[in-house]
Amino acid sequence: MQQLERLMREAGEAVAPAAGMRPVGAPSEPVEAEASRMLHICNACRYCEGFCAVFPAMTRRLEFPAADVHYLAHLCHNCGACLHACQYAPPHEFAVNVPRTLAQLRGQSYRRHAWPRALGALYARNALALSLALAAALAMFLLLALALRGSLWGAVAGGNFYRVFPHALLAWLFSAAFAYAVVALGVGVARFWRELGPDAIGAACAAEAAGAAATLRYLGGGHGEGCNNEDDRYSLARRRFHHATFYGFALCFAATVVATFYDYGLGLPAPYAYTSLPTLLGIVGGVSMVLGTLGQLRLRLRREPLQGDPAQAPMDLGFIGLLLLVAGSGLALAAWRAGAAMPALMALHLGAVLALFLTMPYGKFAHAPLRVAALLRNAVERRQPRRLGLADE
Ligand code: SF4
Ligand code: SF4
Repeated sequence: MQQLERLMREAGEAVAPAAGMRPVGAPSEPVEAEASRMLHICNACRYCEGFCAVFPAMTRRLEFPAADVHYLAHLCHNCGACLHACQYAPPHEFAVNVPRTLAQLRGQSYRRHAWPRALGALYARNALALSLALAAALAMFLLLALALRGSLWGAVAGGNFYRVFPHALLAWLFSAAFAYAVVALGVGVARFWRELGPDAIGAACAAEAAGAAATLRYLGGGHGEGCNNEDDRYSLARRRFHHATFYGFALCFAATVVATFYDYGLGLPAPYAYTSLPTLLGIVGGVSMVLGTLGQLRLRLRREPLQGDPAQAPMDLGFIGLLLLVAGSGLALAAWRAGAAMPALMALHLGAVLALFLTMPYGKFAHAPLRVAALLRNAVERRQPRRLGLADE
């Protein structure tokens, strides 16, 4: 055992390069260097190899340059299993805490891959940025409703949303905000991919990555029993609430797409009956999002603090809270669309959705496309034989 610990200590110390000898692409930020130190220790230990994709990806490397530690950070789903299983976790002198270090690295990576780069600073004050975006969007829709209708109160004939805000205005505004979010996130993912070097993506790789993302395979803890949240017990609750949130969001998005088709393709303008496809998709999606976000909020507040980066807690909670506001206000709008509160509810819902779109590229949402890119990279790498070039690989 002492012999093993000596070897591991040496592995961790070996990553400290001599002055002026830093190889190209070597970790330069303290958190990158810490991740590299830890991964050298893990590479000697390998106890957690079966937990997730991070450890097998780590064993395909002997060194951990900056681009690679960022890649491994996004491959990590922060399930916490390797912290609770680690015999070298604090208070051990090796102080190995993979989930926290990779979470800190993701925080840095979000800023590094932000587009435009200057707006990457918003990650550091994400809760403030999110609050300001929400306040500004809410104020805009409330003032607009007052200007167009003279009041925020009063039933609208037929519960018709477009008698409060013109359809064309909403279509242009939300299309532009969504397109901006897609472009900004897309540029960030492209930069992330480029840093890792070119690699061909086959259909099998895309299918494997899509499957891992859609099922949240790596929130299963490697044995299918789930994650650690507040202690050593395993639970699938996090995976289930995450699924409820994600698929609820996808259903709400589908509701918008179907409604757009009804309007432009079939000439059937909103509002639609409660039994219509867009309304049903929206209601089921909204309920799923509310349940998913409430569950995630509860788990997040109870999670073992050592698993995460305390500096990112406001961003995580702010994002979950905003998703809850989007879903809750959407359901309230559907329930009371014929009532006097409809104009105010509509301003609240539209303000929350606009704030979500505007902050997508500078908040927690960025973890989704970057993680999918990391899963895709992992699927590509797994199909590359003899990656290390060792005789016994
Ligand atoms: S996290 Fe700990 S137990 Fe797991 S591989 Fe690393 S050093 Fe070993
Ligand atoms: S926290 Fe979970 S997903 Fe992340 S490296 Fe550890 S075991 Fe893997």
